[in-house]
This record gives sequence, structure tokens and C-alpha cells, in this order.
Amino acid sequence: MQQETHLYDLTVIGGGPTGMFAAFYARMRNLDVQIIESLPELGGQVAALYPEKIINDVAGTGAVTGAALIANLQSQLDQFSDGLYLACGEAVTGLKRLDDGTFMLTTTKRQTHTRSIVVAIGGGAFAPRPLAVDYDKALEGQQIRYFVKDLQDFAGKTVAIAGGGDSAVDWALALEPVAAEVHLIHRRQQFRGLESSVAQLQASSVVLETPYNITRVAAHDSGLRIDLQVAKGEDQRQLAVDTLLVNYGFVSDNSLLKAWGLPLERRALIVDANMETEIPGIYGIGDAVTYPGKVKLIAAGFGEAPSAINHLATELYPERKQPLHSTSISA
Ligand SMILES: Cc1cc2nc3c(=O)[nH]c(=O)nc-3n(C[C@H](O)[C@H](O)[C@H](O)COP(=O)(O)OP(=O)(O)OC[C@H]3O[C@@H](n4cnc5c(N)ncnc54)[C@H](O)[C@@H]3O)c2cc1C
Repeated sequence: MQQETHLYDLTVIGGGPTGMFAAFYARMRNLDVQIIESLPELGGQVAALYPEKIINDVAGTGAVTGAALIANLQSQLDQFSDGLYLACGEAVTGLKRLDDGTFMLTTTKRQTHTRSIVVAIGGGAFAPRPLAVDYDKALEGQQIRYFVKDLQDFAGKTVAIAGGGDSAVDWALALEPVAAEVHLIHRRQQFRGLESSVAQLQASSVVLETPYNITRVAAHDSGLRIDLQVAKGEDQRQLAVDTLLVNYGFVSDNSLLKAWGLPLERRALIVDANMETEIPGIYGIGDAVTYPGKVKLIAAGFGEAPSAINHLATELYPERKQPLHSTSISA
């Protein structure tokens, strides 16, 4: 495991909307910041669960899709890419307070040191819900995928998508013009998606493999052989594809908060008016926290971030004045 010697001013754990905004705000206060996010991309629930939904209740944005809100947060962050370390695809697993009051965090990749922490983990570390059958893990990332980074990776290929929700439907439609063939495997006849998207799917060349369960996936030539069994029936068939894209949604786990010994109420971190926990230097914002009157909304998390950052900045650098307003930014 990589051992780092650098001491960050602040580590934001969780790159959802509130963690992204907290990191931006901390960079405005000139802090040396890292964000650690377990998923390969920033954006939290908004990007992973509802990128196409229209969000109406964030101040000043008007009606905006989830994807556009995250893109705006990303461009805000990009103004301060110097002095910001972004660690995606890496989950924080352990936290230790050292004798000098700083913290050592253990992640799935390294040990890293920080003077303060903002916990912005929402409902917990997100991971894609895995395929329910055993398969050779060496196929993951190549023939079996859980994420789409670049549609062109699928150009000219025969692709199967497993899943029946919004995002599976969206991926099928996005891949249809790029891939040679797209098969959508779902255990029900109906798909859960926007009516207009489902209608588009039905009119498309995507082959609907319904109602089928996947019973086995194995390497076959340079691709995969997928065994299918009709749901609640005996009939079986096989499908040969280049790539299987698994899209069964996400699971989250925040059990680490308990393991770290931080005070919780109904699985949420208890914080004070400065968003600080009872451990000095550890703050919490967003869906991960609770206090009297807490509401789990993006707008609330956006307000909590400056409270936490301004307080911790004053603790770290008492000589710096607390700013009242942002000033123009030179990138
Ligand atoms: C379907 C749906 C619709 C919604 N619509 C709205 C709406 O219209 N308006 C609104 O205001 N709110 C809405 N919400 C709620 C809103 O999405 C949440 O309030 C918001 O996402 C909370 O942001 P967050 O940054 O606190 O947490 P999250 O968005 O949950 O992000 C937390 C991030 O932390 C990461 N993480 C967790 N543990 C670790 C770890 N150990 N190491 C590294 N990374 C970790 C996770 O992978 C995740 O990316 C909706 C929620 C859902 C599910």
C-alpha cells in the first residue's frame, strides 16, 4: 500500500454535490485539499441515480438536470484544479487520529495524512450492484463492465446490457448507434424508464431479451457466453457477445462511520452549528449528517459546506480573516 508523507489541510471524503462544493469553497479559502470518492466519477447520488431528472429546488439554477448540475459544480472546481487532488475510484476505509491532532486515513489504495476532514459520504460508499452469478473477476473491466467511460469503447461490438431501469434503458439507446448490436436483458417484460425513453427503445433496433435471468457468464473466444433462463420458467438459451454491461443500480454502505466511533443518530453523523462532530477537526455535511431541523436536500448541503469550511479554516489558520464574500477568481 502506498504511504504518503504529504499533509493536506483538508480531506473531503465523498465527491457528491456537497463534497464537490465544499472542496471548491475550501480552495477559495486557499486550503490544500483532496477529495476522495469511491466511484470513478464525481457527482454522488445525482450523477449515479438521476442524471436526467430535472431538479427545481437548488437556488439560482432554475430547472436543471442532475447531469447539468454536476457539470456546473465540476466547472466551478476546475477553476481551482491547482492545489486540489482528486482521487476517484478510491474508498476511505480507516481513520486514525494521531498524537499531534492530525489524521491518518486509510483508503483502498494508500495511507494519506490530513489536518482536517469533511465527511460528505451521503448514505455511504456507492458501489454498483454486482451481477448475481459467480464469474471470473479477471473479465471485469474488459468483457464485463459496470461503467461506461467512453461510448467508443463499444464501437462495432455486440453488447449485452443487464438491467431494466432508467439507466439501463438510457445506455441501450446511447449505444445503439455506436455498437454493432445491443441486447437488453431484463427479468421482466416492462422497463422502468421515462415513457418517452421506453417508447424510443421499443422503436429501436435494441434486441429486448425479456423476461430472462442470467444464470452463467463465461469467457468465450475473445468475448463472453451468457446463459439465459426464462424468468419463472425452464427454457434456456445462450447469447454470445463481446461485452456485458451490468446496470443493476447501486448499493451504499456507511457502516464505517460506526467503526470510526463517531457519534451517530439513526446512522447519521451528529454535528453542531459549525458542522463539527465531537472530534475536533472532523466535520460532516450533506446527507451524512443530522442536527435539529436537518433536511436532506442539495440546497441544505450547499449551505452547510461554507459553515464547515470557514470554521475549520479559522481553526487551521487563526491569523486569516473570515471572508464574507467571494471575489473574482483568476484561474
Ligand atoms: C431519486 C432521487 C431524487 C432526488 N431529487 C432531489 C431533488 O430534486 N432536490 C434535492 O435537493 N435533492 C434531491 N435528492 C436528494 C439529493 O440527491 C441528496 O440530498 C444529495 O445527493 C446529497 O448529497 P451528498 O453530497 O451529501 O451525498 P451523495 O450524493 O450521497 O454523495 C456521497 C458520495 O460519497 C461517496 N462515498 C461514500 N462513502 C465513501 C467512502 N468511504 N470513501 C469515498 N467516497 C465515499 C459516495 O460514493 C457518493 O458519491 C434526490 C435523491 C434521490 C435518490
